[in-house]
Amino acid sequence: MSNSTTIKNKLRSVGLAPRKSLGQNFLSDDDVARKIVRFAGIKPTDIAVEIGPGIGALTRHLAQFARHVIAIEIDRNLIPLLEQELSDVTNVTILQADALEVDYARVIREAGGDETTPVRVVGNLPYYITSMMIRRILESHINTQAVVLTVQLEVAERMTALPGDMSLLAVGVQVYGKPELLMKLDPSVFYPQPEIDSAVVRIIPQGRIEHTVELFDLARAGFSQKRKQMRNTISAGLRIAKPDVDELLNGANIDPTRRAETLSIPEWAHLADNYVSHGYSIARTKRSDNLESDSDNNSDVAEPNTANSTEA
Ligand code: SAM
Repeated sequence: MSNSTTIKNKLRSVGLAPRKSLGQNFLSDDDVARKIVRFAGIKPTDIAVEIGPGIGALTRHLAQFARHVIAIEIDRNLIPLLEQELSDVTNVTILQADALEVDYARVIREAGGDETTPVRVVGNLPYYITSMMIRRILESHINTQAVVLTVQLEVAERMTALPGDMSLLAVGVQVYGKPELLMKLDPSVFYPQPEIDSAVVRIIPQGRIEHTVELFDLARAGFSQKRKQMRNTISAGLRIAKPDVDELLNGANIDPTRRAETLSIPEWAHLADNYVSHGYSIARTKRSDNLESDSDNNSDVAEPNTANSTEA
């Protein structure tokens, strides 16, 4: 019996089928599961946080390496199956919750850790919450060493873009660390099979950048109009007169005629510092935590998946 059939039967045995709205494409290849877990570099002193364990394809492997695993699954219907799958594993806590709402410092404490305990995060999530998730984790007061995410290939490529091709998503991720695309995944390693390729990305957090709230306000404004110069997008998006915008940009050594996609993360950071030192610290854009969408990619907002396009 193929692994896909096994997953299908396990779900059926409890009256379930994969839910497209939750990005439920379950990993059906155990070799790939092992590789993903290896990318996280888990050590015996680490706590692993798994976002969206599904029916536990990765969880058992994480539990082999980590001191403890906290597996956070939003779908309450899957919990009994997950508990059953992991009934012989003693170092896993299953939490039924929306991973975007979890207080990570608290769950780490409840698992016996503290703010110094090394934490490694592994997940395979609907891509439209990817940057919110990264932000949520990396702004928590926990000691995150690595975040390993499976996302759709196109999203992985956008996350890892270089100046010249940056997007709001790339800025939203790279402000926190350097993402690397480690492995491409064929649809055949999932059940149900998505229509698109996926990829595994690892983000190693880097030194904290100051003023991220203002930086994201600037980036949202910067990317709000396709291929427009920064002096125009920042002026329109943040309602600041153009001569003042020119002063802000020049003060950060950024030519005001440049476009948002060309800026590097140090340049965004420099601009945010300059913005705050000029007293512009009050948010001027309609703020949301979602940094997935920019003017080039508005269609992304409506598309509902990671690696996920098929319903069982
Ligand atoms: N990791 C499992 C695997 O590889 O087979 C499941 C992956 S499946 C693509 C994504 C999982 O994330 C699903 O089980 C889904 O219910 C869960 N999920 C989706 N949104 C979530 C959220 N906001 N918080 C926690 N889990 C979520």
